[in-house]
Amino acid sequence: MKKLKLTFCTGVDTVTGANYLLEDEEQGLKILVDCGLVQGEKTAEEDNNAAFSYDPKTIDVLFVTHAHLDHVGRIPRLINAGFKGRIISTPATKDLARYMVEDEAHILSHNRHNNPTITKEILEIYSEENINTMMRLWEGIEYHKPFDIKGLQINFRNSGHILGSAFIEMICNGKKIVFTGDLGNSPSPILKDCEKLTDADYLVMESVYGDRNHEDRDNRKLLLEHIIQDNVKRRGVLVMPTFSLERTQELLFEIDDLIIKGRIPLVPFFLDSPLAIKLTDVYKKYENEMNDEAREMAKSGKNIFVFPGLKQTPEAEDSKMILRTPNPKIVIAGSGMSSGGRIVHHEHNYLPDPNNTILLTGYQSAGTLGRHIQDKENSVYINGEQVLIRAKVEMISGYSGHKDSDALLDFVAGTAETVKQIFTVMGEPSSSMFLIQKIRDNLGLNARQPIKGESVFLEF
Ligand SMILES: [Zn+2]
Repeated sequence: MKKLKLTFCTGVDTVTGANYLLEDEEQGLKILVDCGLVQGEKTAEEDNNAAFSYDPKTIDVLFVTHAHLDHVGRIPRLINAGFKGRIISTPATKDLARYMVEDEAHILSHNRHNNPTITKEILEIYSEENINTMMRLWEGIEYHKPFDIKGLQINFRNSGHILGSAFIEMICNGKKIVFTGDLGNSPSPILKDCEKLTDADYLVMESVYGDRNHEDRDNRKLLLEHIIQDNVKRRGVLVMPTFSLERTQELLFEIDDLIIKGRIPLVPFFLDSPLAIKLTDVYKKYENEMNDEAREMAKSGKNIFVFPGLKQTPEAEDSKMILRTPNPKIVIAGSGMSSGGRIVHHEHNYLPDPNNTILLTGYQSAGTLGRHIQDKENSVYINGEQVLIRAKVEMISGYSGHKDSDALLDFVAGTAETVKQIFTVMGEPSSSMFLIQKIRDNLGLNARQPIKGESVFLEF
């Protein structure tokens, strides 16, 4: 028997900034799981700029659960601070992460003139050289291909959250610890379902929606159909602020199917996001990792993310064509919370017209432009200018990429017979606490929320 030390560096008490350290002092092994940016918090800049609580030079391996920035966005900082270990994830995560980190570097460089907190040092951290080093250290290993690192057996299993996402099992002396990363809201329109977990002894699990269920999941596609039909009838512009990774591809796939089945008319449709266009190409490359329905469609030779009327506008110049195209039309652009990116220009143009519709399909953090729109305020300020909100504001919550409260409980139930300790991470305190109470009441298991920076010793 031995003890492994687990430290919750960041990514507790909040939904972002995943970073956990597992140490086997006997073997001299130091492992990180995820190295993500803190996003949307008041303290985000401070947290992201803070020194790591460990020496990056001494870390042997970084495992990455998936390519969202709150799981990979601080890797260039790790490199900059001297990390020279291995980075290991599924191959799809590796491909997606490159574009995600490059995009973050691009946004920093673009915003440097009007944001004094983006210093020369920060731009150097996100340099091309550091990103190239990151990719050189990065290895892709498939799901269900267990491998060994100093007596620790590692296995990636499909978590169904975004393309390539994994929950990571680590077995030492026959005992298993699992890091969930983010757990998918299965069934997804395109991804395979999140796998069932069994035989875990320790579980470090996400809890984003620990206190809520997704009410409109079963009729999300019908809602989408009605909102598109309604907007076409009113001859308006349907503007969809959408996360570039996963949500965009899901919506393209759903809309394609609605067109094939004749449920919605053909109208000009613009994918106005350079990042989403690149990420969609990665999704095409990994079609074999999709669910049966999406794979069947791809097998028939069809590009599952392309349909008549769809135009991709990678260049800013092309995106001006959108303004000139007569209504009705549909525009998908990032960012998902309207906190930057091309969507902001579209909202500036189209929010004041009551014939238009803004459709929100993702979580909108407090303080973001997206949240002001969601709250149906009378007006918002965009680039210093007051813009009236007269467009219809619609929401569909069923496209969430996260398991809801009941589904999280089901996931834990799969391993109820063996699990000794559950740690809830990646959730607001109220959400984590609600889930902990639910796990205790329904399954009688030990669950608790760790404190940021806390270390625990686990028996193996
Ligand atoms: Zn995620």
